[in-house]
Amino acid sequence: MSEDHVSIVDIDATSDSAPALGERLRTWLVENGIVRQSDAPTFQKIELEPGPSFSAVLDAADAGVVPGSVEISVGRRVYDTGGNGVELSCSQCRAHFEPDDRWFDRVGTWFEGDDAVAYPCPACGFEQRLAEWEGPFAMGFGNVGLTFSDCPPPSDAFLERVKQLLGHRVRIVLRHI
Ligand SMILES: [Zn+2]
Repeated sequence: MSEDHVSIVDIDATSDSAPALGERLRTWLVENGIVRQSDAPTFQKIELEPGPSFSAVLDAADAGVVPGSVEISVGRRVYDTGGNGVELSCSQCRAHFEPDDRWFDRVGTWFEGDDAVAYPCPACGFEQRLAEWEGPFAMGFGNVGLTFSDCPPPSDAFLERVKQLLGHRVRIVLRHI
């Protein structure tokens, strides 16, 4: 059986601010019926169950879909794309590309604590931090993430609300396993 997971990753949260942001996200999701009430988390991984208003997350076409689980992750984490592979798009020259091994070396460097580690576009040389790279199958790098298992991507309206709640930029990671 294969599954498609989707993560919304806060790319600006610091490790110090992450626990409070994770709690703000959990409270908001519970208040809006998107997840069920759960005990306050004590670990870095907060596992939740979808609630009666979960459809508020999705586009109308996906209404009625219920994810296998909902998880808030607090702490430094790399969100990989699994079997989707990595496909990035350059915001400067619009090139689409699959990064080479140097990308994955730098993923390790990021995980070890270097937020500033960057990767250049192979077409035009434009360089930006790993967390800032977008694309059809971008990876995620951050201290706060919200993951729905076995679920289509969230609607733009939901993403906008999450961005406002966190006060940060977010990236979507689509993981196929
Ligand atoms: Zn480029």
